[in-house]
Amino acid sequence: MKTKYIFVTGGVLSSLGKGLSAASLGALLQTRSLSVTIQKLDPYINVDPGTMNPFQHGEVFVTDDGAETDLDLGHYERYLDVPMTHKNNTTSGAIYNSVIAKERRGDYLGATVQVIPHITDEIKSKVLSLAEGEDAPDVAIIEIGGTVGDIEGLPFLEAIRQLRSDLGRDNCLNIHLTLVPYLRYAGEHKTKPTQHSVKELLSIGIQPDIILCRCEQSIPQEMRRKIALFCNVDQDAVFSAVDVKNIYELPLKFYEEGFDQKVAIMLRLPARNARLDAWEKLVHDCADPRGNVTIAIVGKYVELKEAYKSLHEALVHGGVANRVSVELRYVNSETVDETNVVSLFKGCDGILVPGGFGYRGVEGKIAAIRYARENRVPFFGICLGMQCAVIEFARNVALLNDANSEEFNQLSEHKVIYLMAEWFDFRTKNVEKRDAASDKGGTMRLGAYPCKILPETKAYASYLKPSVEERHRHRYEFNNAFREILMQKGMLFSGVSPDDSLVEIMELPDHPWFLGCQFHPEFKSRPMDAHPLFREFIKAAKKYAE
Ligand code: GLN
Repeated sequence: MKTKYIFVTGGVLSSLGKGLSAASLGALLQTRSLSVTIQKLDPYINVDPGTMNPFQHGEVFVTDDGAETDLDLGHYERYLDVPMTHKNNTTSGAIYNSVIAKERRGDYLGATVQVIPHITDEIKSKVLSLAEGEDAPDVAIIEIGGTVGDIEGLPFLEAIRQLRSDLGRDNCLNIHLTLVPYLRYAGEHKTKPTQHSVKELLSIGIQPDIILCRCEQSIPQEMRRKIALFCNVDQDAVFSAVDVKNIYELPLKFYEEGFDQKVAIMLRLPARNARLDAWEKLVHDCADPRGNVTIAIVGKYVELKEAYKSLHEALVHGGVANRVSVELRYVNSETVDETNVVSLFKGCDGILVPGGFGYRGVEGKIAAIRYARENRVPFFGICLGMQCAVIEFARNVALLNDANSEEFNQLSEHKVIYLMAEWFDFRTKNVEKRDAASDKGGTMRLGAYPCKILPETKAYASYLKPSVEERHRHRYEFNNAFREILMQKGMLFSGVSPDDSLVEIMELPDHPWFLGCQFHPEFKSRPMDAHPLFREFIKAAKKYAE
């Protein structure tokens, strides 16, 4: 067996940074010349997070193969720079879905279908699918969502308990992330929550091998000894995961602790010495900017920053590429109108309108876009942001008064953005999804599609190549009936599908930087390799600031 498995569970409470910890460990193992993949197992009943409100769950991350996934997959891609697929995320809902489908087909030959073994076997087969094929990775990290002790997480924990004996002790490692609070008034770290959490794990048959302690400051040696003693782990297997200002410092912090080295030893991995230069350079560049730009993000989900996770990171990456720090000003689009734009966007060097669904806040986005266009402030519109830019231009420049998207006004005479029914009939790659088109889940244009880039455009100046692939998640499209008139008025369609039937990028050539794209470039941005459109947007903002 080639692939070694690392299971990461979380204790005490949620939001301890399990995803970032798993991704950072993966990145460190990569620097030791090991190939790594990561999978997230989510205990909720939704088949995927695609139908969840961003306020509930944060961003829906989209993979090349069109899976709507947990936002932790975004961290995995950003830290590992390996494309994720539908294989890298599954939920209780998806597991039950496939078990029930098999039961209906009669695959279980009359057996009583139960959590153990049927649900747990299905989970195990999803985990083991990562190691299938020629290019099976050296290491598969499996992050189990939720907190140990949750009822809904039990089948997943039982599955990883079984996997340890199925695969052999030398091939599996259990890492448990807990919280070790520091009580200021007592002047000490407290280990009791960790002890309780490990006790909970032990009661379901899982002995952690490594304990990773989320803490404000590094945990003193005697506390580590105490945790090791009470939790049955090696003394040198208790590590601190300290709070960091910049999330990209985490791999280096873990390295200083000797975390990845211990993992490599315990799993007997053929690890080389870590090569950290790229991570060191990244952290150095982040800490030493040569300037500062302020970008306004005009959206509906601004109260929950998690809803724009990849976008936030992509802007940071754009800043790193231009050696400027990027300050983000989240503006609630529902509060914007023509009367307050000047004061709201004062001091902003760029305005970005991100993706979204539904009419609420759309008029505010359009007002913000008009302000950016008329005042020559760099503007970047993504998905709904591009659609709003088209509407704004159609209304205020082409004077098509009631211009709108079919999503917001079915009666408009000028539906510049519309539902392209043929999409679902002829072009949807995934037949199952097309057949389920009456459901809300998975009925969009999802995943990677090619896009032709026209020469001598801002898009081309960004990508520097004639064709790219970008990821989509939307139902509505630019309406080609309006291409001609908007072109006459000065809009340029600089990115189109290979057969020219779909507009993917629009820009305004007589503006310093005004560009909208129908896809979501933020999903493909990397800390060490900023997405070209974000790099150029921040470059334009830097110029504007100067
Ligand atoms: N609501 C728009 C559509 O479905 C935009 C979607 C998005 O921004 N992701 O086309």
